[in-house]
Amino acid sequence: MNIAIYPGSFDPFTNGHLDILNRARSVFDEVVVLVAVNSAKHTLFSTEERVEILREALKGMDNVRVDSYEGLTVEYARKAGAKHVIRGLRAVTDFEYEFQLASANRFVDPGVDMVFFMANTDFSFISSSVVKELWKNGMDVSSLVPSSVVEAFKKKAQ
Ligand code: ADP
Repeated sequence: MNIAIYPGSFDPFTNGHLDILNRARSVFDEVVVLVAVNSAKHTLFSTEERVEILREALKGMDNVRVDSYEGLTVEYARKAGAKHVIRGLRAVTDFEYEFQLASANRFVDPGVDMVFFMANTDFSFISSSVVKELWKNGMDVSSLVPSSVVEAFKKKAQ
């Protein structure tokens, strides 16, 4: 079985992430959406909240699993028997970071390769940070994120 890992902060998951996931799952037998736990990074949503939001948003997708992991993605991939790690590229500004990450991943395990999908131009301006900024300023973000994220934002506001 050809398994791929799609790791990210997903704070929160957006329609841009969803687009990459949908394209990845048409290529691989199974995709694990992995919430990367980085204790040094301040997030709006806790790991548990991000996992719960994802499970709700992705329920019914039979070749998709959601998990979280504190540690190297490549290590998780190896344990899960996955040979590919998915990432999305929006603009050249993403390239430098992703290139460095890919090189670091290859250093950890040359047997795990990165696979990049180009952002759909309709979603290329969407990032978790932009969505959070718009939401904080009272904008309706329901066309940018799955409905489970809208619900989670509502809960946060209470
Ligand atoms: P990280 O903190 O690991 O970069 P993110 O949740 O910000 O995690 O993003 C995860 C992956 O999804 C990254 O490869 C990022 O470039 C990609 N991505 C984020 N937003 C979009 C988008 N709108 N279109 C395509 N790819 C995206």
